[in-house]
Amino acid sequence: MKMLLRNLKGVLVLFLLVSIALLVGLSFQQYRSKNELNAAAGENKQALKTRYALAGTIYDADGVILAQSKDGERIYADDPDIAEAVLQVVGDYTHNIGNTIESNYQNILLGNDRNLFRQFALDLFGKGLYGDDITLTESGELAKSAYHLLDGRKGAIVVLNYQTGDILASVSSPSTSPDSVIRYQDIPDTALFNRAFSGSYAPGSTFKLITASAYLESPAYNPDFTIDCDGQSTVDAYGASETGDGHGTVNLSDAIARSCNVFFGQVGVMTGRDALTDTAKAFGYGRTFSVDRLTATPGAIQIPDNVSTLSWVAIGQPVADSVLYTSPLHMAMIAGCIANGGVMVKPHIVQYFTTPAGEVYNQRSVSNELTALSPELCSQLETMMIGTTEHGTGTSAAVSGYTVAAKTGTVQVQGQKNNALCVAYITDDSAPYAVAVIVEEGGAGGETAAPIAGKILGLAAKRQG
Ligand SMILES: [Zn+2]
Repeated sequence: MKMLLRNLKGVLVLFLLVSIALLVGLSFQQYRSKNELNAAAGENKQALKTRYALAGTIYDADGVILAQSKDGERIYADDPDIAEAVLQVVGDYTHNIGNTIESNYQNILLGNDRNLFRQFALDLFGKGLYGDDITLTESGELAKSAYHLLDGRKGAIVVLNYQTGDILASVSSPSTSPDSVIRYQDIPDTALFNRAFSGSYAPGSTFKLITASAYLESPAYNPDFTIDCDGQSTVDAYGASETGDGHGTVNLSDAIARSCNVFFGQVGVMTGRDALTDTAKAFGYGRTFSVDRLTATPGAIQIPDNVSTLSWVAIGQPVADSVLYTSPLHMAMIAGCIANGGVMVKPHIVQYFTTPAGEVYNQRSVSNELTALSPELCSQLETMMIGTTEHGTGTSAAVSGYTVAAKTGTVQVQGQKNNALCVAYITDDSAPYAVAVIVEEGGAGGETAAPIAGKILGLAAKRQG
């Protein structure tokens, strides 16, 4: 009987201890949630700082710390160039930049969205007050290289793995230091804007990939079709033209490699406005892409019933009352979709979460976003895109030791110099990377954006060894 009583007492004491631990954990979390509401109502920096005092760490794909809480301070990457390159993705604890890891994953980083069981287990080990860590797909070093390649010019670069959807680098220039964002001082114009996810750019001749897809699937498709290009539109007097004396006789492959506006203007009209619009939508125009909990601004296409305007949209240049734009992220996804046999995978920026007890959860899984076209058409397009890097407008996007498929673009922007664009990907399964590069007022895509695309693809391939 004594023995039983002692045992019962033991159980009771244990139960009490556990209950206290649970209560302390819960009430602290409740207190913190209340604080958070207060902070949201009239946020002051001190309250925000206190809120993040025990927040989890944000790691990059290589284990580099991008944000951590230490001695009550929230501090960002040690390397100031990495901190600047990943700024618009990682964000800051004052949430002066929206749509970031720091803002959209706040409840994970603070640990106040845990289920009771998990919170209880952490409380037992005295770790219940700490937030969870987040490991990203992004590489700080690769982002830093991409940011340096933009060299202070306005623009964006997105590099992703087209088989898994993992974003390896997403940079937007200009950027600034997390410190200036927190102080809200010395911020260069538009540095808080994430061009990579939220920029709306005319795709220029990179859109010829979509026009080519629409044409290949169209009843109007004729593999022997050629045009004698003298630089002037064959559609009408106002249709898509080009500078110079033209490309001579071109077929579809030549027109991709050498980026012939006259050919694609004509083909766009032969394919028709509805088919072109439908193909653009099949590639994700008009769709809001989620990147885990972040979002990208959707692209848009609208073509009025006018032949010459249609020919300009078919070459990626919106004129008159047509609409055509999308984000750099989406452009990289389109290149990746062609690389991946017509299947566009869902993009990811977060790999997994880790509790303070070291338990990994919420591992990202690979899933399909959409299927845009057949593997056969993709391989036809790919052959033409390889022509771009072998003997066309994008030879500087080539990467030694790999086969690269690419498409360059040069976009006229009213009142500005031309924007330079390039989308490209490595065709080899051993380095399944796609990239989109946009340099605002960078001039010709083949001269400014293509060499950057080649360099960054080379670095991505080298990074994985
Ligand atoms: Zn031409």
